[in-house]
Amino acid sequence: MLIVEDEPDISFVLRANFMKDGYDVVTARSAEHGLKLAHRRDPAVLLLDIMLPKMSGLEMLRELRQFSLSPVLFLTAKKDEVDRILGLKLGATDYVTKPFSLEELRLRVKNLLRRRTRPLASAGTVRVGGVEIDFERHEISVNGRAVSLTPREFSLLRALVDADGSVLSREQLISDADDRSLEPDPRVVDQNVARLRRKLGPERRLIATVSKHGYQMRRIS
Ligand code: CA
Repeated sequence: MLIVEDEPDISFVLRANFMKDGYDVVTARSAEHGLKLAHRRDPAVLLLDIMLPKMSGLEMLRELRQFSLSPVLFLTAKKDEVDRILGLKLGATDYVTKPFSLEELRLRVKNLLRRRTRPLASAGTVRVGGVEIDFERHEISVNGRAVSLTPREFSLLRALVDADGSVLSREQLISDADDRSLEPDPRVVDQNVARLRRKLGPERRLIATVSKHGYQMRRIS
């Protein structure tokens, strides 16, 4: 599931609840970032806020439909936006109006998932520098050579790639690792990053340490 919502509190609650339900959740705070993640991860369903900074959720849907048929559930605060959503006729879409109940959201998402058509042929893998990451199979290769990662290391790498160049704090990397066995100790993140870097070998440069803040994936395409 991809959640595109610029209000951190709402995004946090949605993510936590759907993760509890067993969904694999990625989040973006802008339509631009959301489009990149949608292309990369081919989400089974999107929760899309309409009022976003710069590009709106409605504009994002138009762009999304150039490459994806994933169903979209709009989160809207205004009744007049509902008419516009209904007028779009851009594939499987539905909406809930804010404030919504989580129960209603769950039901709508389940309904939309039944309308899921086919996955993107190109989705599931992403290349950063010499590292190729297969999100579907949880495999990576470095300069063409397969490298095996532990689930923790893979989760860390995925969180850093998904952040699209933003700096992630150690605390964020704990929660983003989507690994309940991970002790909430920031030093564990440092140890795992160190191991991950060793395994990336010549591509270790891709993960930058940002003093006092955390870690960041360098933008190299
Ligand atoms: Ca908003």
